[in-house]
Amino acid sequence: MGTFPFQKTLDEFHLEEQQSLSQKQLNHLRELTWIEQLYNIILLGPPGIGKTHLSVGLGLEAINQGHKVMFITMGELVHALKTQEISRKAQTKMKRIRTADLVIIDDLMFMAMDQHEANLFFHLINDLYNRSSIILTSNKAPKEWGELLGDPAITTAILDRLIHRAEVIHLNGDSYRMKHRATIFTEKV
Ligand code: ADP
Ligand code: MG
Repeated sequence: MGTFPFQKTLDEFHLEEQQSLSQKQLNHLRELTWIEQLYNIILLGPPGIGKTHLSVGLGLEAINQGHKVMFITMGELVHALKTQEISRKAQTKMKRIRTADLVIIDDLMFMAMDQHEANLFFHLINDLYNRSSIILTSNKAPKEWGELLGDPAITTAILDRLIHRAEVIHLNGDSYRMKHRATIFTEKV
């Protein structure tokens, strides 16, 4: 289960690089009691800050503890929602999402959705609301989600359900990718 974009564990996450998350908080997340309590985790912050890494790490931890985990990007999710009636593959994917204990939706709202897409997304969130936990990652603040979802009523309904039982974590600082990027130039000054 899973289909993670990469396999990176929580042990590989360097907390000293990420001031906005404490060891205590990470330990708490790692215990995964929030999955039993149907809490959602919302990971916000600019690109390259470690949102996907943390979500994968938590997903791997959840699998180790026997949970059913499904990882999907928002782009793939919208595509699967729209094609589930006509595509067996999309249908299987959606079934796995609907039966998972933890659904990781990566890169929420990077693209504007039309009314039909926003509706399909709302229905999924509503279905998951009382049966599973969701980890969402986004580089947009929830107050900006409305613009991308279009309809204010749907946005409010989605946000209500997502935020009702949720821990919102704002990651900040410099991009880890930028700081640790490989260079083709030698370090000579
Ligand atoms: P985001 O999803 O926020 O854009 P990623 O999680 O994809 O960022 O992180 C970009 C790269 O930097 C990944 O290879 C990730 O493993 C690494 N990375 C980011 N933050 C950390 C960190 N605190 N410790 C170790 N690696 C990190
Ligand atoms: Mg990411």
